Order: sequence, then C-alpha cells, then structure tokens
Amino acid sequence: CGIVGAVSTRNIVPVLVEGLKRLEYRGYDSCGVAVHHQGQLLRARSTSRVAELEAQVIGDRIEGATGIAHTRWATHGAPLVHNAHPHFSPSMTDARIALVHNGIIENHDELRDELVGHGYTFVSQTDTEVIAHLVDHYYDGDLFEAVKATTLRLKGAYAIAVFCRDEAHRVVGARLGSPLVLGIGQSSEVSERFLASDAMALAGVTSQIVYLEEGDVVDLQLGKHWIVQRKGEGFQNVQREVRTVH
Ligand code: GLU
Repeated sequence: CGIVGAVSTRNIVPVLVEGLKRLEYRGYDSCGVAVHHQGQLLRARSTSRVAELEAQVIGDRIEGATGIAHTRWATHGAPLVHNAHPHFSPSMTDARIALVHNGIIENHDELRDELVGHGYTFVSQTDTEVIAHLVDHYYDGDLFEAVKATTLRLKGAYAIAVFCRDEAHRVVGARLGSPLVLGIGQSSEVSERFLASDAMALAGVTSQIVYLEEGDVVDLQLGKHWIVQRKGEGFQNVQREVRTVH
C-alpha cells in the first residue's frame, strides 16, 4: 500500500525504512526493501511490522545508495514472505531486476502464460511478478526504455518503482491509477532523487515535490530526472511543476 525509492550517494536504507514508517498509517500486511550493493541486489522482506524489517536490514547489513521499499496490502497471493515485494527477475540467484508495485494488474493471467513461454519461472502468487519479468524481458541495457515498453502491456492500476543490477544509479517509476510523487533532494546531497506514493513519506528528506500524472514514467538518476507521459502507444516528453510542500 506504499512505495518509497531513492537514488543517492549515501546509504539510503534508513531513509527508505523511515519512509515506510510514515506510510504505515495506510495499513499493510507485509513489507520489504531491496538495494543495489556492489553489483548485486540485496533484499529483506517481512510479514511483521516495519520495525521488524528495520532490525532485519541492520542485522543482515543491507546497505546501498540506490533502492526501493514497499508496504503491501495483498490482493493476489496470501500475505506470506515469498509474496512480499520487492520482486526479483529472473527469480534465480542471478536476479537483475527489483520491483515494487501498488495496485492490481488485470491481465496478469495472460501475461504469465506469455512469460512462462519465454522461460520465466514464477515464485509467487502475486499479479505483480508479471511486471518484474516483463521489465527483465524488455531490458536491453536501458531500464527507462524497458519500463516504458512494459507499461504499454499492463491493464489495470499501478504505481511501480524499479531498479536494475546493471545500472547502479538509476530508479524508474511509473503510475496509472495509483499515486506516485517524485522528490528532489535538498540537503547537502543535492543530487538525490526520491519516489514515494505520498509526499509525506519524504518529509524527512525533501519538501521539493513533483506530483506525477496519469500515464507518467519517470527516470531518476543522480542530479537529474526525466519524465514522459503515455500518449496512445507511445510517449511524449513532459515538464512537471516542482512544488514546495510543508
Ligand atoms: N496486487 C499486488 C499484490 O497483491 C500489490 C498490492 C498492493 O497494492 O500493495 O501483491
């Protein structure tokens, strides 16, 4: 039921966990976080409170400057650890895509059949896992392009945040029917970029917020971002106003 993401130059896990705590009021049945760490994806997931997830990331020394986090309100698949987000693709030990999702993908059954045909193995009962595998399927060195191609295939509602093992300083977000905002770093770490389902999740790190619109796909990198909006079966570049929230 909540998303937080970040591209930074410092260990961003405390910011991701704090963001999830600020979203706890929305309700959730499980939570999780994944970060980029020295060319690998690291992940922790829990069916308990965010405080328990926090203890787990400290104990397991999960640290990284690029990452995503999620609180889940299960719609497809029981509230169990293996259904908690982030989801990885491929689901093997060499995972390169990490993804979180709020919403419901209505055509998940037909997409699952197609992806199984491409050789993907499903390890959860969620509708979300098809999105992770689609991004991996379309990935050809440019995560922004892969996510754009993926959103053209999705029917339903989504806010997503994704990163890739092979692009250390990049997170891509997209929304349709579920809220998502972009935050622009203000502290000494001016190059930071954030994603969240609610500006309140970022209250501790920035008041500079861009409210993404329906069909937007956003590319977050160090010191810059780029937004496109879906137009038919393609995309057009858009400028969105930066607002100061208090
Ligand atoms: N439909 C997804 C799931 O059940 C996402 C639920 C949510 O919005 O948290 O895993």
